[in-house]
Amino acid sequence: MTANDDLRARYEAAFMPNYGVPPLALARGEGARVFDVDGRAYLDLIAGIAVSSLGHAHPALVEAVSTQVATLAHTSNLFLHEPEVLLAERLRGLLDGDGRVFLTSSGTEANECALKLAIKYGRAHGRARFVATENGFHGRTMGALSLTGKASIREPFGPFALDVTFVPYGDAAALKDAVGEDCAAVFLEPTQGEAGVVPPPEGYLAAAREICDATGALLVADEIQAAIGRTGAWFAFQAENARPDILTLAKGLGGGLPIGACVGFGEHGDLFAKGDHGSTFGGNPVGAAAALAVLDTIEKDGLLANAAAVGEVLGAGLAAVDHPLLAGVRGRGLWLATVLTGPHAAAVEAAARDAGFLINALQPDALRIAPPLVLTAAQAESFVAAFPSILAAASAATGTATPPAKES
Ligand SMILES: *Cc1c(COP(=O)(O)O)cnc(C)c1O
Repeated sequence: MTANDDLRARYEAAFMPNYGVPPLALARGEGARVFDVDGRAYLDLIAGIAVSSLGHAHPALVEAVSTQVATLAHTSNLFLHEPEVLLAERLRGLLDGDGRVFLTSSGTEANECALKLAIKYGRAHGRARFVATENGFHGRTMGALSLTGKASIREPFGPFALDVTFVPYGDAAALKDAVGEDCAAVFLEPTQGEAGVVPPPEGYLAAAREICDATGALLVADEIQAAIGRTGAWFAFQAENARPDILTLAKGLGGGLPIGACVGFGEHGDLFAKGDHGSTFGGNPVGAAAALAVLDTIEKDGLLANAAAVGEVLGAGLAAVDHPLLAGVRGRGLWLATVLTGPHAAAVEAAARDAGFLINALQPDALRIAPPLVLTAAQAESFVAAFPSILAAASAATGTATPPAKES
């Protein structure tokens, strides 16, 4: 029995079945490479779901976290500490000096904070309805879940206390129709992540900004997956200069350490009264030190430009692959989806793994590629070069994706 098989069997016996049993047990990582417990190496093109922005075991992250945990690991919010202050100041610096920050331990908690701000805003202005997008994803806690547009995730746990109208993503006219004077806030992702890395048509974010300005609804941008370099910019909203009223961050911010943030701009950063919200672990010193190391390293090593340039190599290279299973490539920066002509993403994910590449079948017909921002052009090219044979192996495995055979 391999070490992978052993751990998988023990996992299955000990854990709730909500994730199924993952295919691999990972043991360690280095840069954009990870190794499983049997010692096999993989190029990590998913980065723990767009989280490990500096790759694995980056010296700056190791140093910052090790030093902090050996100095002061936790204070709770009964006391403050310098790393959280530095982090909030640093985030404000990236956001033109505006914004007030609440730190969390996860993405869904950042959205819960945004939602509570929006509820307070709505109560003060007689606005009780929310607008979110079909297929959007905002998290698994009950508030964030009630805004999550994917019915298969949301509905088994309803009904919900929140009145939410879901609109088709990317359709500015539908958004305009749905947002009125009774609407407290619009929640949307600048590109839908879990739905399959689906960018909106150009102009959609700017239109959302205008619609909210015209009606007085708050615009909440869930950049939990999109921000901190993923698209080649610090924040995805910058592409259309559509700054939200409330911004949520998490995934890539801590480079693998659990930290998230909710930022309220202008008066929306002052909506909470003392006692309105809190978190014991949120913004703890180790997470804050990790996030500072991530932000410093992205800046120092030019990783925004790297994400844009290597993303271009990867996206253009994959788009040029000619195979009947491949319908196209979408996304921007190091945040791409390869779209298939049929529901064979699981087979392609498995074939890629067999070939030494980790990618993620996040829709039946779409695979997510969200590598560490330190990915090199040579590493991107190695995947592009392997992709045709990965698709061929997946075709052979499914037996359904070969060019349509002549009916006889
Ligand atoms: C991952 C994600 C979340 C939830 O974050 P967790 O850290 O898993 O709670 C929310 N919104 C978006 C857009 C995400 O990608």
